[in-house]
Amino acid sequence: MRVSRLMLVTLRDDPAEAEIPSHKLLLRAGYMRRVASGIYAYLPLLWRVLQKVSLIVRQEMDRTGALETLLPQLQPAELWERSGRWAGYTAGEGIMFHLQDRQGRELGLGPTHEEVITALAADLLRSYRQLPVSLYQIQTKFRDEIRPRFGLMRGREFIMKDAYSFHADEASLKETYGAMDQAYRRIFARCGLRAVAVEADSGAIGGSASQEFMVTADAGEDLVLASGDGTYAANQERAVSIPPSAIALEAQGCEPLATPGQTSIDDLCSSHGFDPTQTVKVLVLLARFAEGPAQPLLISLRGDQQLNDVKLANAVTARAQPAWGALLEIAPISVDQWASQGLDPLPFGSLGPHLSDAALQGASQWRSQFLRLADPTATALKRFVCGANQVDTHLVGAAWDELVACPEAVDLRSAQPGDSCCHDPSQTLEASRGIEVGHIFQLGRKYSEALGARFTTESGTEEALWMGCYGIGVSRLAQAAVEQHHDAHGICWPVSIAPFEVIVVPANIAEPTQAELAEELYGQLQEAGVDALLDDRTERAGVKFKDADLVGIPWRVVVGRGAGEGLVELVERATGEKRDLAATNLLTALLPVLQQQRGGI
Ligand code: ATP
Ligand code: MG
Repeated sequence: MRVSRLMLVTLRDDPAEAEIPSHKLLLRAGYMRRVASGIYAYLPLLWRVLQKVSLIVRQEMDRTGALETLLPQLQPAELWERSGRWAGYTAGEGIMFHLQDRQGRELGLGPTHEEVITALAADLLRSYRQLPVSLYQIQTKFRDEIRPRFGLMRGREFIMKDAYSFHADEASLKETYGAMDQAYRRIFARCGLRAVAVEADSGAIGGSASQEFMVTADAGEDLVLASGDGTYAANQERAVSIPPSAIALEAQGCEPLATPGQTSIDDLCSSHGFDPTQTVKVLVLLARFAEGPAQPLLISLRGDQQLNDVKLANAVTARAQPAWGALLEIAPISVDQWASQGLDPLPFGSLGPHLSDAALQGASQWRSQFLRLADPTATALKRFVCGANQVDTHLVGAAWDELVACPEAVDLRSAQPGDSCCHDPSQTLEASRGIEVGHIFQLGRKYSEALGARFTTESGTEEALWMGCYGIGVSRLAQAAVEQHHDAHGICWPVSIAPFEVIVVPANIAEPTQAELAEELYGQLQEAGVDALLDDRTERAGVKFKDADLVGIPWRVVVGRGAGEGLVELVERATGEKRDLAATNLLTALLPVLQQQRGGI
């Protein structure tokens, strides 16, 4: 390919819309353009990268025995109603784009494909003899993200590889899950990414075990907590740890304490010399479901701990009645919201776990009893400080059971860096940031049961299929690679996914010797199967070198003044190493290195 024919438009300055290096560089170097929030045009350079990533993904999926397929993006609501996910994905914070066709039928644009594939499995898979089987596709997904950002990292339209496996039993599912884990590690390594596998929350997809693959990068949206010994790593959404010990509160009984204006744990502790570990904080939140009234929550945590939203959502979902449908949202209840229900004002800032359900009596749209949950850090306290449910008053020396029946204890706290690890208390958790590029799940039988995907076992009985699902964000991966591989001058693509492997740059194209030698080398490289680019523009050499660095082509062959003597300069983008060599030796010098840098199976 010739640069003059590439529609290459590079930008000198960082575009205002971009915050992180990879996003800035992909825009500046002419890889993509924003069409609307979270929606990008992939320009020819980026498309080549995406095709190379896809090829690696394909080869590794094929190697596991998975079959490539292509499923529809327009999906009938009816399928999602059968799995129970339509409401959760379209109402509240749901991320599915949805529409009506001319007959008034509801359709969604696929954010993921469990429903479609399970319906197919119900139709096609009948006998244990057909199992196990895995299918995958590489395709555009649509998600109406609440905060699309960072370019391809969180788009509303993006490319994903998703795979689904079907099994006769759990052991077979685990085997394929293990094979996918290995395939994922190979994919990320071949793409030149440093990625780590971490325990993950299964989220709205559901199921039991799941693992995310994180590309370590400061710009990552996820917080990874890992033990120094390398045996434990988890997304903070899911991570567990041993909380710091509490300082026992010296108190025999329970006394009220005047706490004027002290509505935060910090104020309370600094005014009276308490340690936050001696306090219980109480949060009132509201869980909205697809059907019926909202459910008020009364959550108790030790004062020094942070509530983990993901753990809370899981705990609430597990305790919800099936008739309530999907959990749509959990949010703190504001003073105004409380008042809007026609209820007496709550003493926010002085709430205690003994807040009675009477406080909810007469609520116009809410259920009339709190769902009461407490983190074990709170339930473990013998005596503690908490709000008295009266303005400007706290209780010192409160005890569960004396005050109120101890609520159900469930892990609701966020593990923090510095916490001791559960597997070995001498180890502590360290934090790092990660970009989630892949996620593999053992789904179990949730979807097959909901959509009636059953098979006949060897002994002749009928059972629901066991399922796994496995995603890779292909477009996110491409940008994550830039996040890990760039410098002050631009992108430094790993050869395996670079849009072109070599760029031939005649310093002065108007000089016939240079132009001719450059053409000749460009032809030789192409013939040798190298993805080569020729910068045939009439620009100054400096401009062309700058662009080559920005675009990030791994190898640059400069045809300059030495062309008369048959000499060229070979520059490696990532290291900046330069060497002069005879043009006749270029292929013998470069091909073996390229071959090795391409990786491959
Ligand atoms: P996240 O937690 O980042 O929102 P997710 O858990 O919803 O992602 P999955 O449903 O597991 O994502 O999707 C599989 C993969 O698709 C993710 O691991 C990620 O790499 C990619 N992905 C998900 N959402 C987006 C998006 N909005 N833009 C680009 N890639 C995405
Ligand atoms: Mg995920």
